Amino acid sequence: MELHHFQRRKTREVRIGNVVIGGERPIAVQSMTNTDTNDTEASVAQIERIDRAGGKIVRLTAQGTREGENLQNIVRLLRSDHFDTAIVADIHFVPEAAAIAAKYVDKVRINPGNYRTEHGELEHLIEQCRRRGVALRIGVNHGSLAKRIFDRYGDTPEGMVASAMEFLRVCQAHDFDQVVVSMKSSNTRVMVAAYRMLVEAMEREGMDYPIHLGVTEAGNGIEGRIKSAVGIGALLADGIGDTIRVSLTEAPENEMPVARLLVDHFRERPGEFVVQHPERYSPTAFRRRSHVAEPVVHSEPHDGFRILEAVSGNPTAELRAAILNLEPAESTTPVLIKRRYDDSSLETLAVKAAADLGPLLLDGLADGIWVDAPAFNDAQIRDIELMILQAARVRFSHTEYIACPSCGRTLYDIERTLAEIKSKTSHLKNLRIGVMGCIVNGPGEMADADYGYVGAGPGRITLYKGREVIVRNIPQEEALDRLIELIKAHGDWHEA
Ligand code: SF4
Repeated sequence: MELHHFQRRKTREVRIGNVVIGGERPIAVQSMTNTDTNDTEASVAQIERIDRAGGKIVRLTAQGTREGENLQNIVRLLRSDHFDTAIVADIHFVPEAAAIAAKYVDKVRINPGNYRTEHGELEHLIEQCRRRGVALRIGVNHGSLAKRIFDRYGDTPEGMVASAMEFLRVCQAHDFDQVVVSMKSSNTRVMVAAYRMLVEAMEREGMDYPIHLGVTEAGNGIEGRIKSAVGIGALLADGIGDTIRVSLTEAPENEMPVARLLVDHFRERPGEFVVQHPERYSPTAFRRRSHVAEPVVHSEPHDGFRILEAVSGNPTAELRAAILNLEPAESTTPVLIKRRYDDSSLETLAVKAAADLGPLLLDGLADGIWVDAPAFNDAQIRDIELMILQAARVRFSHTEYIACPSCGRTLYDIERTLAEIKSKTSHLKNLRIGVMGCIVNGPGEMADADYGYVGAGPGRITLYKGREVIVRNIPQEEALDRLIELIKAHGDWHEA
């Protein structure tokens, strides 16, 4: 990673159907369907909407062999409609579904945390992929590490890297190079550290596989966009990332403009910045520079802070260099970082500011944020600044929702449900509420949520306190009231 200028990490090219990622190729944007994979027409219609919105790689869940088989019908109908979208099968738990899907799709994603390896399933899949020219994604999720890895490392970035490297070494040993790798988490600090450590680990072992970036369960609205922009932006600013997915709990085609905006925002990062004290920076171990307990937004008191304003085309590197170059006497002086934006769309402003300034907060370098945007009023700016601080995990001012983007496994209308849950609980400070579509992956992937609302079957919900099931399989009509009762029973409730 270069501190003094922007440079994209060199990776090998990987072909996914008609799309090639890695090497000198532009960063590709992608999404995932949330239709039932057995519903051919609905799935194809959604893939076509995503494609028209700019997503040329689309993933579908194949939770079982029946869904795996139906990918054939989906690909056939899509091609007959003259769409050449690259199709990816998302596999958890059932290697047989991967073996079937690999006959029809352009890429298969497996999760090392729940993919069987004891009977040579991975080697078999690699051979199958090689024969048909299918790419493979080793997709690690923070919330679903294998028990063996979890027992040794806990749910840490180190555990995520160990999990990925085991599978990558098998690919390398079999001389199979059409591999992409991802390290997703809903916790931006964990996610960014995991990707940076992964790059270091791959470099040590001579691997140059391209990287798929994403923050899982980012939620919806401006907040979901900001959370994705902080995590993905921090890595794009490092030059890491060959394809990205912005996961939103919304229609998947809504993800495309946000993903495109991020890619365009990092296309050019001009400038050279002298860094006198690189040893003050720790990209993989979080360390706060100053002793400020709670970072501030610009309208709050910041006496004694240094104000550093970015004026170049690479604000993240420019501000980082300025902070690292402070005189020794000022090396722990709190810093407020500022950047001016002339955008007139609130969403564009939020994504750009989160991607530029969020990484410096996430890395513990800055202590305050000033988004200077004349087109917006003070309350709007303050909201965005607070959301960036929360997405960077340095100050929690409102409830955090760890909401899955939904997929073919989702068992209820998650977008509507999330809106209802938000309307009743968003005033609760310092709480994390998981809203997950299915019981198979949901409980693990909501990871560090305080409370969980998880689809247990059609129209049925299971409620969690932390990782413990409290109320199982209740009708959805009762679930929100029961969730509020649960929050009250644990003393975490107050009236709005
Ligand atoms: S948690 Fe959500 S996105 Fe993940 S598999 Fe379940 S329904 Fe799909």
